[in-house]
Amino acid sequence: MYFIDVIIPIPLQKLFTYRVTHAEAEFLKTGMRVSVSFGKSKIYTALVFSVHNKVPLTYEAKDIEQILDEVPIVNTKQLKIWEWIANYYMCTLGDVMRAALPNAFILESETIIKGGNGVFDESVLKDDEFLIYEALQHQSSLKIHDISNILDKKTVLPVIKRLLEKEAIVVEEEVYEKYKPKLVRYVKMHSKFSSEKALHDLLDGLNRAPKQSKVVLSLFSISSKTKKPVKVSDLVKQSDTSSAIIKTLIDKEILEEYFIQTDRVVYSGEDTETSKLLNTYQQTALSKIKSLFNTYNTVLLHGVTSSGKTEVYAKLIEDTLKQDKQVLYLLPEIALTAQLITRLQNYFGEQVAVFHSKYSTHERVEVWNNVLNNERKAQVVLGARSSIFLPFHNLGLVIVDEEHEQSYKQFDPAPRYHARDAAIVLANMHGAKVLLGSATPSLESYYNAKQEKYGFVELLYRYNNVLMPDIELVDIKDKLKKKRMKGHFSDRLIAEMNETLTEGYQIILFQNRRGFSPVIECVTCGHAPQCPNCDVSLTYHQYRHQLRCHYCGYNTAMHKTCEACGSPEMDSKGFGTEQIEEEAKLLFSDYKVARMDLDTTRGKHGYEKIITALEQQEIDILIGTQMLTKGLDFRNVKLVGIMNADNMLNFPDFRAHERSFQLMVQVSGRAGRTEERGKVLVQTYNPNHNILQQVSTNNYGEMYKEQMNDRYNFKYPPIYKQIKITLKHKDYNRVETASIWYAKSVRQLFGDFVLGPEAPPVARIRNQFHKNILVKIPKKQSLSKTKEAIIKINNSFFSIKDFRSVKVVLNVDNF
Ligand code: ADP
Ligand code: ZN
Ligand code: ZN
Repeated sequence: MYFIDVIIPIPLQKLFTYRVTHAEAEFLKTGMRVSVSFGKSKIYTALVFSVHNKVPLTYEAKDIEQILDEVPIVNTKQLKIWEWIANYYMCTLGDVMRAALPNAFILESETIIKGGNGVFDESVLKDDEFLIYEALQHQSSLKIHDISNILDKKTVLPVIKRLLEKEAIVVEEEVYEKYKPKLVRYVKMHSKFSSEKALHDLLDGLNRAPKQSKVVLSLFSISSKTKKPVKVSDLVKQSDTSSAIIKTLIDKEILEEYFIQTDRVVYSGEDTETSKLLNTYQQTALSKIKSLFNTYNTVLLHGVTSSGKTEVYAKLIEDTLKQDKQVLYLLPEIALTAQLITRLQNYFGEQVAVFHSKYSTHERVEVWNNVLNNERKAQVVLGARSSIFLPFHNLGLVIVDEEHEQSYKQFDPAPRYHARDAAIVLANMHGAKVLLGSATPSLESYYNAKQEKYGFVELLYRYNNVLMPDIELVDIKDKLKKKRMKGHFSDRLIAEMNETLTEGYQIILFQNRRGFSPVIECVTCGHAPQCPNCDVSLTYHQYRHQLRCHYCGYNTAMHKTCEACGSPEMDSKGFGTEQIEEEAKLLFSDYKVARMDLDTTRGKHGYEKIITALEQQEIDILIGTQMLTKGLDFRNVKLVGIMNADNMLNFPDFRAHERSFQLMVQVSGRAGRTEERGKVLVQTYNPNHNILQQVSTNNYGEMYKEQMNDRYNFKYPPIYKQIKITLKHKDYNRVETASIWYAKSVRQLFGDFVLGPEAPPVARIRNQFHKNILVKIPKKQSLSKTKEAIIKINNSFFSIKDFRSVKVVLNVDNF
């Protein structure tokens, strides 16, 4: 008798065994997909873990439905990392499988199938494929069992798989937005002036407008020199003019504007550069990294903003490619910008592949297959968190850029993994090296470097010796007292902004909050409108004149009067990006003001469009949130204003101070990256706060020392390890009793190192009440033993009937 153990992409504690025939057993290999029925009559795509002949003892093995692959799509190294993740982050292999494979790989009963877009050549379809295709011309979507009915057979996943490959259908997730191409603005002469005569007449006519005629002449000289389309930004620079004059020429129909999409993904084959010559600091850093790689698997590169870390990475990538090995370049999702992709494509051409959650399933499957087959097109993979799951087989180097970024950690759903840490384990499996890079390393990585677990290299000078920005703290308490505030702008900030704008430079204003004003309050009785599903006040969004919940998305029109007392005076507390934008528009009405936050970047082209506009200098003042911090390289930004440092510092989290430091240093790093020294103004009620002093002197070392002291005293990571246990239930009393039971059991083993149960600041989300228990694990206590003990407690917990409906979330390294 022959059996296979499979992983099913649902949270099962164990692998599940199915029966196969002798022939199937011969054919099947670890990492191939099969379809199986599980539970009442659900069909899942499962992954073969092993082939064997041990009869399962507790149940009778069912037959598999169908084999879906001819060769494995997942390799054994991947399965090893899956196991490590399941084990370390206390989740099931099924959870990991769901996160690791592109959706199109795991068809199941619940998958929703839709017709593909655009024209399609039906003649390539077999009869059964055509039936489904045709059905989708009449119906907007089908589920697997509908397809079963149409074809009148049980095993339909292979047909669906073929249809997907032929791109005749799509799976539901593809309502996702596609990755947006970048739009660059160009100008050319209006077609009216294509004849020599018309052109002469025009230039004669422009005699009395020397500025305009200069623009026209410059346009000619640029395009005759480069023979390429002319960017508006280049023309502005060359003819030493303003975009206002260009606009006049466009309005007068002398020039014509047009946009070209510079496609980020498909490499055009032009413009390949050799990588840059490193300066001596970079050179020293590079050779030090290389020699440290002889003794360490992981090296931390602490390089100040704009020190040229990316160029150092490029050299290491070059070396790795020469050894015919693959490179994984990890970035926080949002830092995965066109800027960087273009930079790397210039060096490595078509060898660069990008793996991005905004890509369609097809594109992701394509990258997956290119990596799997070790194609030339996927030697350097640039991607966010989930790209650690790609089927590498000879990885040589992993770069984790902006390693301090919180978005490397997945919070929900399981697996709650940290991509940086998982990448280090992955690299070890391949015998590959890892370089962690950041201008503001996380305390845990810096600590690991201090402990000599990682090698450590510093880059202390900006490329070209541009000075670090000059950081000035502005005491807004004092300014308020002296009546020197206009709205949220101090007189200092306004003065600096005026100077910067007159000099023709750009400005970034940073505000660490979203929405017009986070909370609305009744002036008369103090009542603040609450979300009906969550324990949190609604926030006001001026743009849509709405009240919204940031936890569940609930929204309602702004109340005209107080629900509690009927008073018509509702006032805002705190302030957000929208309000800063309004004020900036009034204060600087001659300049173009734009805003970048989750609200403005959600739609089509959102994020890229704003960045491109800033690059092209179509924006003078950009107001934004966290998004602005992510490693962007803007040449013309000279001033950065941090509107209010205090709301970051006061955030109730043990990492609030570390994060504030990182955020402020990173935002400051956007100022004056080339030639001119940048200026940063930090507005605060607390100019003497240690973190602000450390930011203003760019003193990472001092910040590290002080924060580590706190971590030590209050038993926080990286000194202690941490597991957070969250219990959720819609009945408050049930979750209360359950969490008391749970905490008591854990406390019996770990005593004072257990905190809680405690209600989090937002104690109810989507109608579920939450309770947290925190387990702190000292260095000398075994982490794996601790987890085993918690799993035992967890199992006893679920054997209690009353607790069975409580949801328990285990989060290892929950910070
Ligand atoms: P970081 O990633 O450390 O913030 P970057 O790698 O983005 O810094 O470098 C900052 C700027 O300096 C970039 O515009 C980059 O092109 C330029 N630069 C860095 N190193 C060199 C070099 N060796 N030669 C020429 N330009 C460089
Ligand atoms: Zn009221
Ligand atoms: Zn809500």
